Amino acid sequence: MSIDPQQLITLYKLRTHAEVCRWFEEGLELEKLHVIAGEKYHIYIPKSIKQSYLPMLCAHSDTFAPTVTHPISVNGKIFASDNPEHIRGDVLGADDRNGIWIQHQLALENTGKFVFAIFDEEECGSKGAQEAFSVIEQFTGGLSCLLGVDRRGNNDLACYMTSNHHRRQLNSPAFINLLQSSTGYLPAVGFATDVSRIAERFGISCVNFSVGFYNEHHSTEFTDLGDIERTLNILRSSLPDRLWTERFPC
Ligand SMILES: [Zn+2]
Repeated sequence: MSIDPQQLITLYKLRTHAEVCRWFEEGLELEKLHVIAGEKYHIYIPKSIKQSYLPMLCAHSDTFAPTVTHPISVNGKIFASDNPEHIRGDVLGADDRNGIWIQHQLALENTGKFVFAIFDEEECGSKGAQEAFSVIEQFTGGLSCLLGVDRRGNNDLACYMTSNHHRRQLNSPAFINLLQSSTGYLPAVGFATDVSRIAERFGISCVNFSVGFYNEHHSTEFTDLGDIERTLNILRSSLPDRLWTERFPC
């Protein structure tokens, strides 16, 4: 499979959480999903669950700044502009539309193996994820772990610590060792994001996967299509079976 850059560029240009969720839902068999939505979150849960537990994949619909109007695709990469002097305050939007794109591909396959969560305002202190706490609380017992698709680069497993002074790790060592050995990606230090806030609130291990964007929050942000595809393939085929048979507290 090779990724159609125009499909991503269309996604990058969207402005609102509602538009991103509509894009995500295109082509899905929505009758097979419970859709739980608030103003700043949409969560999609398979109606038919064959496993003991499911991982929840998390991406955010908002971008750090307004997105550019004319991104360009060159040699397997997407840039905000063909002008090297591009110094305006806007961004490509690959953070975190690349995560939304990966979720969409996995949702189209309709395997029933993931809960998909799309949160708004991650860049404003994870407001969407926090707005969803009361909903997540109702099914948190069925989640094995939290997998963010919202990390720069191409082989990070970003790990997080609690925000309080105890500085406790928000993943068990066994959880990270398992993912490192099954994916080949490497632990990295992350700061607060949606999965870390949910992990801290509910005591579930979290990690955040690289999704092929670089220079995020900057006008020189760009995407490497091959890196997106690599993480998509790992989430599709290389995650350990234990993510569906046991829960990973933190
Ligand atoms: Zn992000």
